[in-house]
Amino acid sequence: MTHDCDLFVIGGGSGGVRAARMSAQRGARVVLAEAAALGGTCVNVGCIPKKLYSYAAHFAHDFQDAAGFGWDVEPPRLDWPRLKANRAREIARLNAVYQQLLHGPGVEIARGWATLVDGHNIRVRTAAGEKHFTARHVLIATGGTPSVPSFPGCEHVVTSDSMFDLDPFPARLLVVGGGYIACEFASIFNGLGSRVTQLYRGAQILRGFDHEVQDFIAHEMRRGGIDLRVGSDVRAIHKSAHGLQVTLLDGSTVAADVVLYATGRRPNVNGLGLDAAGVAQRKDGAIVVDAHYRTSLPSVYALGDVTARVQLTPVALGEAMAVVDHLFGDQKRSMSYDFIPTAVFTHPNIATVGYTEEAARRKFGNIAVFRSEFKPLKHTLSGSGERTLMKLVVDAASDRVVGLHMVGPDAGEVVQGFAVAMKAGATKAVFDGTIGIHPTAAEEFVTMREAVS
Ligand code: FAD
Ligand code: NDP
Repeated sequence: MTHDCDLFVIGGGSGGVRAARMSAQRGARVVLAEAAALGGTCVNVGCIPKKLYSYAAHFAHDFQDAAGFGWDVEPPRLDWPRLKANRAREIARLNAVYQQLLHGPGVEIARGWATLVDGHNIRVRTAAGEKHFTARHVLIATGGTPSVPSFPGCEHVVTSDSMFDLDPFPARLLVVGGGYIACEFASIFNGLGSRVTQLYRGAQILRGFDHEVQDFIAHEMRRGGIDLRVGSDVRAIHKSAHGLQVTLLDGSTVAADVVLYATGRRPNVNGLGLDAAGVAQRKDGAIVVDAHYRTSLPSVYALGDVTARVQLTPVALGEAMAVVDHLFGDQKRSMSYDFIPTAVFTHPNIATVGYTEEAARRKFGNIAVFRSEFKPLKHTLSGSGERTLMKLVVDAASDRVVGLHMVGPDAGEVVQGFAVAMKAGATKAVFDGTIGIHPTAAEEFVTMREAVS
């Protein structure tokens, strides 16, 4: 049977665009449907605008730090509309780059909402009406969307999608959640000048991270001015003439101009037609896939956030390359989920790769932990009280470094390189035999000699 295309991709985000253009480069006839802006979450309301705002927020520290180095700076003032306009211009440029990335190798873009009819038929609702496509293979890469619990007054909250264009700038921001998004936005808006309160329902923020990293960043965020409260949650929100009145479970109240709910994301599967087409999903809606990203329908594949496994852009990209290789290549490429490095763009940044101390103890039994905490050289003159934490976890039996954690400036930049070494199986002896670059913070990772436990 002949089809309109070899591959129909639903979703033009990180994973979908990568899969579409790589497939087209290998000679496949590809159509990609996108209902919103090309680039998906990462480009439009995720990694990129978030990192740009994180840079903006860091200037607040830089202006303060400069004084100790002899600079007199006029009291700085944030022009929020200018920051928003500059961000919007850059994102529009990236949207055009993504369009070019697809047009270049010949991918047809269908602008509109796609619904799966069956394993080989897709319907797209475009501005001009409905279009039907047939495809040999279908790839679902529809990402995720913020998930907000239901409670009295929940209609007054916003999600991360709205944070980039807030108008006016929130003088008082309440952030609910203790994960990546909550901690990053609390840090960003604190730096930009909001009075930030952050509530986390559990005992310590960033569940799943190394316990010392959790405690260290919580301390740094509080030191930086965030009113971080753990074991705390919202009961109800009321709108008044003076903003939002938020009543907490303990009966106390917090006044806020904006309440951000960063309480996780759910797979974007509504209106996709999965049930009718017969694509199996987990209870949370996530599409179930096998090791080759194939769903319960053999011609339909899924990857990225819609499968709700590791929700990171480089993981969606890696999965896309594996799918393309499976469908149109020599099937040699696979995606390894071991030692995925990750960063949280709090102030200061966190970056980590491999096992936490606790997880390593469970997995390997006998481990050695190396730890260094210090005031970075820059802050000897800046007067800032910010400190840096670096930690190595070593499997005693093999001497392999199985966990590496950092809280400090540009932690992501530092840890990316060490992630290569760890993926290659570097031992502590290899770390010890590596010459440091002096004077840097990163050299601490190759000079820690005394195990603390
Ligand atoms: P997406 O990029 O979400 O793309 C899905 C696309 O599908 C969207 O464009 C959507 O419009 C489209 N779509 C959905 N349904 C349909 C349909 N039926 N028809 C047509 N189109 C449809 N990750 C990092 O690695 N680093 C970070 O710093 C980082 N920061 C983040 C910050 C925030 C605030 C958020 C929310 C996420 C962040 N992430 C980060 C996560 C990252 O953005 C996602 O893991 C990544 O974008 C997932 O890619 P994807 O291809 O699965 O989906
Ligand atoms: P996370 O799953 O990381 O965090 C969700 C937070 O909300 C947790 O602290 C959770 O608490 C809390 N929570 C969940 N439900 C409720 C509720 N009903 N009431 C109160 N609190 C609740 O999700 P995020 O939304 O922060 O981010 C989604 C994903 O996006 C991340 O996991 C990450 O993969 C990706 N991302 C990556 C970034 C990066 O790479 N820098 C940046 C931003 C996002 P508990 O711990 O108790 O469950």
